Amino acid sequence: MDAIIGHEGARRALRGLAAMDEPPHALLLAGPARTGRTLLALELACLLNCERETLDERPCGECRACRLIGERAHPDVLHLAPGDAFCRGGGGHQPHPGSRDIRICQVRGLIESVSRYPFEGRCRVIVIEPAERMGLEAANTLLKTLEEPPPATVLALVSAAPEALLETIRSRCRLLPVPLVPDETIAAGLRARGFPAEVAERAAVESRRRPAEALAFAEQPDLMDDRGRLLERCAVIASGSAAGRMAYAGDLAERWRRDREPVLAEIDCWETFWEARLREDAEAPGERAREALAALRAVAAARRDLEAQVVARLAIELMLLRFPVTLAAAEGHDPAADGSEPAP
Ligand SMILES: [Zn+2]
Ligand SMILES: [Zn+2]
Repeated sequence: MDAIIGHEGARRALRGLAAMDEPPHALLLAGPARTGRTLLALELACLLNCERETLDERPCGECRACRLIGERAHPDVLHLAPGDAFCRGGGGHQPHPGSRDIRICQVRGLIESVSRYPFEGRCRVIVIEPAERMGLEAANTLLKTLEEPPPATVLALVSAAPEALLETIRSRCRLLPVPLVPDETIAAGLRARGFPAEVAERAAVESRRRPAEALAFAEQPDLMDDRGRLLERCAVIASGSAAGRMAYAGDLAERWRRDREPVLAEIDCWETFWEARLREDAEAPGERAREALAALRAVAAARRDLEAQVVARLAIELMLLRFPVTLAAAEGHDPAADGSEPAP
Protein backbone atom coordinates (compact mmCIF):
# COMPACT_ATOMS: atom_id res chain seq x y z
CA MET A 1 0.00 0.00 0.00
CA ASP A 2 1.69 3.19 -1.03
CA ALA A 3 -1.06 5.68 -0.58
CA ILE A 4 1.11 7.70 1.80
CA ILE A 5 2.92 10.76 0.49
CA GLY A 6 5.97 11.75 2.53
CA HIS A 7 6.35 10.86 6.22
CA GLU A 8 9.55 8.85 5.84
CA GLY A 9 10.38 9.39 9.51
CA ALA A 10 6.96 8.37 10.82
CA ARG A 11 6.98 5.28 8.61
CA ARG A 12 10.38 4.26 9.93
CA ALA A 13 9.07 4.70 13.46
CA LEU A 14 6.05 2.50 12.67
CA ARG A 15 8.32 -0.19 11.29
CA GLY A 16 10.30 -0.02 14.53
CA LEU A 17 7.11 -0.49 16.55
CA ALA A 18 6.03 -3.42 14.39
CA ALA A 19 9.40 -5.09 14.99
CA MET A 20 8.91 -5.06 18.76
CA ASP A 21 7.93 -8.26 20.55
CA GLU A 22 5.08 -6.36 22.05
CA PRO A 23 4.08 -3.19 20.22
CA PRO A 24 2.74 -0.37 22.42
CA HIS A 25 -0.93 -0.71 23.34
CA ALA A 26 -1.70 2.85 22.43
CA LEU A 27 -0.33 5.25 19.89
CA LEU A 28 -1.11 8.94 19.48
CA LEU A 29 -0.79 10.13 15.88
CA ALA A 30 -0.64 13.85 16.46
CA GLY A 31 -0.66 16.34 13.63
CA PRO A 32 -2.80 18.54 11.39
CA ALA A 33 -5.77 17.07 9.55
CA ARG A 34 -5.38 15.91 5.94
CA THR A 35 -1.72 15.05 6.36
CA GLY A 36 -2.08 11.24 6.22
CA ARG A 37 -2.53 10.35 9.89
CA THR A 38 -5.17 7.69 9.25
CA LEU A 39 -3.14 6.16 6.42
CA LEU A 40 -0.20 5.86 8.80
CA ALA A 41 -2.43 4.07 11.34
CA LEU A 42 -3.53 1.70 8.58
CA GLU A 43 0.05 1.16 7.54
CA LEU A 44 0.81 0.00 11.08
CA ALA A 45 -2.17 -2.36 10.80
CA CYS A 46 -0.69 -3.74 7.56
CA LEU A 47 2.79 -4.11 9.07
CA LEU A 48 1.28 -6.07 11.96
CA ASN A 49 -1.07 -8.24 9.92
CA CYS A 50 0.52 -8.72 6.49
CA GLU A 51 0.90 -12.42 5.70
CA ARG A 52 4.48 -12.20 4.40
CA GLU A 53 7.10 -13.99 6.48
CA THR A 54 9.52 -11.20 7.32
CA LEU A 55 9.04 -7.60 8.30
CA ASP A 56 11.21 -6.52 5.36
CA GLU A 57 8.59 -7.79 2.95
CA ARG A 58 5.73 -6.12 4.78
CA PRO A 59 3.40 -4.57 3.94
CA CYS A 60 3.14 -6.41 0.63
CA GLY A 61 -0.08 -4.72 -0.46
CA GLU A 62 -1.21 -7.96 -2.08
CA CYS A 63 -2.13 -10.49 0.58
CA ARG A 64 -5.68 -10.77 1.89
CA ALA A 65 -4.86 -8.81 5.05
CA CYS A 66 -3.19 -5.93 3.18
CA ARG A 67 -5.99 -5.74 0.63
CA LEU A 68 -8.78 -5.74 3.21
CA ILE A 69 -7.02 -3.12 5.30
CA GLY A 70 -6.52 -0.96 2.19
CA GLU A 71 -10.23 -1.29 1.43
CA ARG A 72 -11.04 -0.51 5.08
CA ALA A 73 -12.86 -3.80 5.34
CA HIS A 74 -10.55 -5.84 7.59
CA PRO A 75 -12.52 -7.31 10.51
CA ASP A 76 -9.70 -6.57 12.96
CA VAL A 77 -9.19 -2.96 11.98
CA LEU A 78 -11.91 -0.94 13.66
CA HIS A 79 -12.68 2.71 13.23
CA LEU A 80 -14.30 4.75 15.99
CA ALA A 81 -15.45 8.19 14.85
CA PRO A 82 -18.22 10.69 15.70
CA GLY A 83 -21.65 9.37 14.72
CA ASP A 84 -23.18 6.13 15.89
CA ALA A 85 -20.58 3.48 15.06
CA PHE A 86 -20.63 0.74 17.76
CA CYS A 87 -23.63 2.33 19.50
CA ARG A 88 -25.96 -0.48 20.53
CA GLY A 89 -28.99 1.78 20.96
CA GLY A 90 -32.08 0.38 22.68
CA GLY A 91 -33.52 1.10 26.11
CA GLY A 92 -34.87 4.52 25.21
CA HIS A 93 -31.48 5.56 23.85
CA GLN A 94 -31.98 8.08 21.05
CA PRO A 95 -30.15 7.27 17.82
CA HIS A 96 -27.44 9.79 16.95
CA PRO A 97 -26.03 9.16 13.47
CA GLY A 98 -25.26 12.87 13.01
CA SER A 99 -23.48 13.29 16.35
CA ARG A 100 -20.23 15.25 16.24
CA ASP A 101 -18.80 13.65 19.33
CA ILE A 102 -17.50 10.23 20.15
CA ARG A 103 -19.93 9.17 22.84
CA ILE A 104 -19.62 6.90 25.82
CA CYS A 105 -22.15 4.45 24.31
CA GLN A 106 -19.84 4.05 21.32
CA VAL A 107 -16.78 3.46 23.47
CA ARG A 108 -18.74 0.88 25.50
CA GLY A 109 -19.97 -0.78 22.31
CA LEU A 110 -16.46 -0.89 20.96
CA ILE A 111 -15.05 -2.45 24.13
CA GLU A 112 -17.86 -4.99 24.11
CA SER A 113 -17.23 -6.07 20.52
CA VAL A 114 -13.51 -6.25 21.15
CA SER A 115 -14.08 -8.58 24.10
CA ARG A 116 -16.73 -10.66 22.35
CA TYR A 117 -15.27 -11.34 18.93
CA PRO A 118 -12.04 -13.23 18.42
CA PHE A 119 -9.82 -11.81 15.74
CA GLU A 120 -8.64 -13.45 12.58
CA GLY A 121 -5.34 -11.61 12.09
CA ARG A 122 -2.39 -11.28 14.41
CA CYS A 123 -3.17 -7.92 15.87
CA ARG A 124 -6.24 -5.78 16.18
CA VAL A 125 -5.91 -2.07 15.44
CA ILE A 126 -8.54 0.38 16.64
CA VAL A 127 -8.37 3.82 15.06
CA ILE A 128 -10.05 6.55 17.13
CA GLU A 129 -10.48 9.74 15.15
CA PRO A 130 -10.58 12.57 15.99
CA ALA A 131 -9.66 11.47 19.49
CA GLU A 132 -10.29 14.93 20.99
CA ARG A 133 -13.99 14.57 20.18
CA MET A 134 -14.38 12.10 23.01
CA GLY A 135 -16.30 13.67 25.86
CA LEU A 136 -15.08 13.27 29.44
CA GLU A 137 -17.18 10.17 30.12
CA ALA A 138 -16.15 8.52 26.86
CA ALA A 139 -12.52 9.36 27.51
CA ASN A 140 -12.66 7.97 31.04
CA THR A 141 -14.20 4.76 29.78
CA LEU A 142 -11.47 4.43 27.20
CA LEU A 143 -8.92 5.10 29.91
CA LYS A 144 -10.05 1.99 31.78
CA THR A 145 -9.30 0.00 28.63
CA LEU A 146 -5.88 1.58 28.42
CA GLU A 147 -5.17 0.62 32.01
CA GLU A 148 -5.96 -3.03 31.27
CA PRO A 149 -5.38 -3.32 27.55
CA PRO A 150 -6.81 -6.32 25.70
CA PRO A 151 -4.13 -8.61 24.26
CA ALA A 152 -2.68 -8.03 20.78
CA THR A 153 -4.58 -4.80 20.34
CA VAL A 154 -3.24 -1.38 19.39
CA LEU A 155 -5.32 1.72 19.95
CA ALA A 156 -4.37 4.38 17.41
CA LEU A 157 -5.61 7.78 18.56
CA VAL A 158 -5.60 10.38 15.81
CA SER A 159 -5.69 14.02 16.87
CA ALA A 160 -4.98 17.51 15.63
CA ALA A 161 -5.40 18.85 19.16
CA PRO A 162 -3.56 16.41 21.44
CA GLU A 163 -3.47 19.02 24.21
CA ALA A 164 -7.27 18.71 24.34
CA LEU A 165 -6.99 15.04 25.36
CA LEU A 166 -7.00 13.95 28.99
CA GLU A 167 -3.47 14.02 30.31
CA THR A 168 -4.03 10.53 31.73
CA ILE A 169 -4.80 9.26 28.22
CA ARG A 170 -1.99 11.13 26.53
CA SER A 171 0.56 9.82 29.01
CA ARG A 172 -0.40 6.24 28.19
CA CYS A 173 0.14 6.67 24.46
CA ARG A 174 3.31 6.39 22.47
CA LEU A 175 3.51 9.72 20.65
CA LEU A 176 3.97 9.69 16.88
CA PRO A 177 4.15 13.23 15.51
CA VAL A 178 2.73 13.55 11.99
CA PRO A 179 4.27 16.72 10.55
CA LEU A 180 3.34 18.77 7.50
CA VAL A 181 4.95 17.53 4.28
CA PRO A 182 7.25 19.75 2.15
CA ASP A 183 5.81 21.06 -1.15
CA GLU A 184 8.44 19.26 -3.26
CA THR A 185 7.67 15.89 -1.64
CA ILE A 186 3.95 16.34 -2.27
CA ALA A 187 4.48 17.45 -5.87
CA ALA A 188 6.73 14.43 -6.51
CA GLY A 189 4.13 12.14 -4.96
CA LEU A 190 1.41 13.57 -7.20
CA ARG A 191 3.58 13.29 -10.31
CA ALA A 192 4.26 9.65 -9.42
CA ARG A 193 0.49 9.15 -9.39
CA GLY A 194 0.31 10.39 -12.95
CA PHE A 195 -0.81 13.98 -12.47
CA PRO A 196 0.72 16.50 -14.89
CA ALA A 197 3.66 18.40 -13.39
CA GLU A 198 1.82 21.73 -13.54
CA VAL A 199 -1.22 20.43 -11.64
CA ALA A 200 1.04 18.64 -9.14
CA GLU A 201 3.04 21.80 -8.36
CA ARG A 202 0.00 24.00 -7.94
CA ALA A 203 -1.90 21.46 -5.83
CA ALA A 204 1.16 21.00 -3.60
CA VAL A 205 1.47 24.73 -2.94
CA GLU A 206 -2.26 25.28 -2.43
CA SER A 207 -2.52 22.35 -0.02
CA ARG A 208 -0.21 24.05 2.47
CA ARG A 209 1.79 20.88 3.01
CA ARG A 210 -1.20 18.58 3.53
CA PRO A 211 -0.94 15.61 1.16
CA ALA A 212 -4.58 14.51 1.34
CA GLU A 213 -5.67 18.04 0.51
CA ALA A 214 -3.20 18.16 -2.39
CA LEU A 215 -4.55 14.91 -3.77
CA ALA A 216 -8.11 16.25 -3.64
CA PHE A 217 -6.97 19.43 -5.42
CA ALA A 218 -5.13 17.45 -8.11
CA GLU A 219 -8.19 15.28 -8.70
CA GLN A 220 -10.52 18.27 -8.78
CA PRO A 221 -8.66 21.44 -9.77
CA ASP A 222 -11.96 23.39 -9.46
CA LEU A 223 -11.49 23.16 -5.70
CA MET A 224 -8.37 25.28 -6.03
CA ASP A 225 -10.38 27.96 -7.83
CA ASP A 226 -12.93 27.92 -5.02
CA ARG A 227 -10.07 28.47 -2.66
CA GLY A 228 -8.82 31.36 -4.77
CA ARG A 229 -12.23 32.99 -4.40
CA LEU A 230 -12.16 32.43 -0.64
CA LEU A 231 -8.74 34.09 -0.47
CA GLU A 232 -10.05 37.11 -2.33
CA ARG A 233 -12.86 37.30 0.20
CA CYS A 234 -10.31 37.17 3.05
CA ALA A 235 -8.56 40.18 1.51
CA VAL A 236 -11.84 42.09 1.38
CA ILE A 237 -12.73 41.29 4.99
CA ALA A 238 -9.23 42.03 6.27
CA SER A 239 -9.37 45.49 4.76
CA GLY A 240 -13.01 46.11 5.68
CA SER A 241 -14.68 47.67 8.70
CA ALA A 242 -14.88 46.22 12.19
CA ALA A 243 -18.64 45.87 11.76
CA GLY A 244 -18.05 43.91 8.56
CA ARG A 245 -15.71 41.57 10.41
CA MET A 246 -18.21 40.94 13.17
CA ALA A 247 -20.97 40.24 10.65
CA TYR A 248 -18.62 37.77 9.00
CA ALA A 249 -17.86 36.14 12.38
CA GLY A 250 -21.59 35.68 12.97
CA ASP A 251 -22.03 34.14 9.53
CA LEU A 252 -19.13 31.76 10.04
CA ALA A 253 -20.39 30.70 13.49
CA GLU A 254 -23.85 30.05 12.04
CA ARG A 255 -22.35 27.89 9.30
CA TRP A 256 -20.27 26.06 11.93
CA ARG A 257 -23.48 24.83 13.55
CA ARG A 258 -24.55 23.20 10.30
CA ASP A 259 -21.30 21.89 8.90
CA ARG A 260 -17.86 22.22 10.39
CA GLU A 261 -15.60 21.15 7.56
CA PRO A 262 -16.16 24.16 5.23
CA VAL A 263 -15.59 26.50 8.17
CA LEU A 264 -12.31 24.80 9.05
CA ALA A 265 -11.37 25.11 5.35
CA GLU A 266 -12.09 28.82 5.58
CA ILE A 267 -9.95 29.12 8.72
CA ASP A 268 -7.21 27.41 6.69
CA CYS A 269 -7.68 30.07 4.03
CA TRP A 270 -7.00 32.75 6.58
CA GLU A 271 -3.77 31.00 7.43
CA THR A 272 -2.76 30.99 3.77
CA PHE A 273 -3.72 34.65 3.50
CA TRP A 274 -1.50 35.74 6.39
CA GLU A 275 1.32 33.42 5.39
CA ALA A 276 1.36 35.05 1.96
CA ARG A 277 1.48 38.48 3.58
CA LEU A 278 4.32 37.38 5.80
CA ARG A 279 6.25 36.15 2.77
CA GLU A 280 5.69 39.45 0.96
CA ASP A 281 7.08 41.30 3.93
CA ALA A 282 9.91 38.91 4.68
CA GLU A 283 12.45 41.02 2.85
CA ALA A 284 11.71 44.14 4.84
CA PRO A 285 10.48 42.89 8.20
CA GLY A 286 8.60 45.59 10.01
CA GLU A 287 5.24 46.39 11.49
CA ARG A 288 3.31 44.57 8.77
CA ALA A 289 5.29 41.36 9.23
CA ARG A 290 4.74 41.52 12.98
CA GLU A 291 1.03 41.99 12.39
CA ALA A 292 0.91 39.06 10.02
CA LEU A 293 2.64 36.87 12.60
CA ALA A 294 0.18 37.92 15.30
CA ALA A 295 -2.67 37.21 12.88
CA LEU A 296 -1.25 33.74 12.16
CA ARG A 297 -1.14 33.04 15.87
CA ALA A 298 -4.75 34.18 16.16
CA VAL A 299 -5.75 31.78 13.37
CA ALA A 300 -3.97 28.87 15.07
CA ALA A 301 -5.64 29.71 18.39
CA ALA A 302 -9.07 29.86 16.72
CA ARG A 303 -8.56 26.49 15.07
CA ARG A 304 -7.48 24.97 18.38
CA ASP A 305 -10.49 26.48 20.15
CA LEU A 306 -12.89 25.25 17.49
CA GLU A 307 -11.43 21.76 17.60
CA ALA A 308 -11.60 21.77 21.38
CA GLN A 309 -15.29 22.77 21.18
CA VAL A 310 -15.01 26.26 22.60
CA VAL A 311 -18.09 28.36 21.69
CA ALA A 312 -17.58 28.88 17.97
CA ARG A 313 -18.70 32.49 17.70
CA LEU A 314 -16.40 33.53 20.50
CA ALA A 315 -13.42 31.74 18.98
CA ILE A 316 -14.01 33.28 15.55
CA GLU A 317 -14.65 36.80 16.86
CA LEU A 318 -11.50 36.67 18.94
CA MET A 319 -9.52 35.69 15.87
CA LEU A 320 -10.93 38.56 13.80
CA LEU A 321 -10.38 41.05 16.62
CA ARG A 322 -6.72 40.08 16.73
CA PHE A 323 -6.24 40.81 13.05
CA PRO A 324 -4.58 44.15 12.32
CA VAL A 325 -6.93 47.03 11.65
CA THR A 326 -4.68 49.12 9.47
CA LEU A 327 -4.85 47.11 6.27
CA ALA A 328 -7.38 49.20 4.38
CA ALA A 329 -5.18 52.28 4.15
CA ALA A 330 -2.03 50.31 3.46
CA GLU A 331 -3.64 48.30 0.68
CA GLY A 332 -5.37 51.03 -1.28
CA HIS A 333 -7.93 48.28 -1.66
CA ASP A 334 -11.48 49.22 -2.54
CA PRO A 335 -13.70 46.80 -0.64
CA ALA A 336 -16.85 48.48 -1.94
CA ALA A 337 -16.02 47.12 -5.38
CA ASP A 338 -16.40 43.58 -3.95
CA GLY A 339 -19.75 44.32 -2.40
CA SER A 340 -18.64 44.26 1.22
CA GLU A 341 -18.88 47.10 3.68
CA PRO A 342 -16.56 49.99 2.99
CA ALA A 343 -13.64 50.63 5.31
CA PRO A 344 -14.15 53.44 7.83
ZN1 LIG B 1 0.51 -8.21 2.87
ZN1 LIG C 1 -25.44 5.73 21.43
